[in-house]
Amino acid sequence: MKDLMPLEEALRILLESVKPLSWERVFIKDALGRVLAEDILSDTDKPLFDNSAMDGYALRFEDIEGATEETPAKLKLVGEVSAGGEELPEVKRGTAVKIFTGAPIPPGADTVVPVEFTELKDDTVLIKRTFKKGANIRLKGEDVKKGEVVLKKGSLVRGYEVGMLSFVNRTTVKVYRRPRVAILSTGDELLEVGEPQVKPSQIRSSNHHMLYALVQSAGGEAHQIGIAPDDPEELLKVMAFSRDYDVFITTGGVSMGEKDYVQYLVEDLGVEVKFHKLRIKPAKPVLFGVGQGGKLFFGLPGNPVSCAVAFDLLVYPALKLMQGSKDIFRQKVKATLVKDFSRRDAKRREFARARVWFEEDSYLCEPHPKQQSHMLTSVVESNAYMIVPEGVNEIKSGEKVEVILYG
Ligand code: AMP
Ligand code: MG
Repeated sequence: MKDLMPLEEALRILLESVKPLSWERVFIKDALGRVLAEDILSDTDKPLFDNSAMDGYALRFEDIEGATEETPAKLKLVGEVSAGGEELPEVKRGTAVKIFTGAPIPPGADTVVPVEFTELKDDTVLIKRTFKKGANIRLKGEDVKKGEVVLKKGSLVRGYEVGMLSFVNRTTVKVYRRPRVAILSTGDELLEVGEPQVKPSQIRSSNHHMLYALVQSAGGEAHQIGIAPDDPEELLKVMAFSRDYDVFITTGGVSMGEKDYVQYLVEDLGVEVKFHKLRIKPAKPVLFGVGQGGKLFFGLPGNPVSCAVAFDLLVYPALKLMQGSKDIFRQKVKATLVKDFSRRDAKRREFARARVWFEEDSYLCEPHPKQQSHMLTSVVESNAYMIVPEGVNEIKSGEKVEVILYG
């Protein structure tokens, strides 16, 4: 087991081999899920002008100092200004102007009193409470100043960022290109979804559809190559397509079996294998190599759980880095184990599927009862990988563990 590479070293090699792709310009509504390839600056001060935070009356602070329910200040109503209003009546001593949220503050006014603390009698406004000078006024530039960075290069564009892009008057934005990722499952036993089961030994291929979805949700552009048999000639033909993609992912055929050809064929394609077999569980047989022009090749194990784990630990950060993202790893937190965990073989670092939730003031973690690598139920019924370090056989309930959140 000594010769198995630790995950850290594999990640170091992997991340050294990956570079952000070029960028392209897209309309902001198409930027969702993409990563910004430029800093975004504010086009103007925000707010652009002093305006009211409330519906109420704009007035002068000196006129309402000390006002109470019993002894209200009495001001003469001299006009009205609504949001988008251009004509601004001047507020002189002893007067008030009716104002709506977002409307510019008229000259002379320095405070806004919300309508609920006032009463209008003919053209006299009664103010029944005092407010601090400047209350309920949003000041020009208090959010951001013109030219200030509002979104940083490397940020993921979510709905909020789309809002911010429009807020600073952008119609298009530079984003990193999405990596083009091809997915191929290998195995004589595999059946495509919908294909009739002819022999009882055939199994439904889930990996290539799972990976398609995982790649898409990690921001990649997934392409389905399909299923190839365990036949070197056939395999070599389809694997040759790897030259057309930024990333080529295979599943199956990287273990110790006689029919596990993928690991040999990659070299025939000119791919330099950077690592094969890591000191992790599951997903030990995972392979990574770099082809001509820096194209990435991942050979993931066939067992569906191993395939998912290998994706999350290795392919996910590679895809994020290619997109220029600042956050390339799935979130890691500390959680308190609520159930004893033990294992016989402690040589590898284990990524046990677990359910993690937040309660009171900390995360709690319960490992899934099924931990074998063919049991995809363990993945869908969990939302995290609990990290069991090398050399650790037992973790007791109440102890802290590190977990990677994937769901
Ligand atoms: P392999 O890595 O090719 O030795 O496959 C390991 C296990 O994973 C075997 O039980 C395969 O039947 C299963 N397997 C391989 N590929 C897939 C796939 N695409 N979907 C689901 N299971 C698979
Ligand atoms: Mg196989």
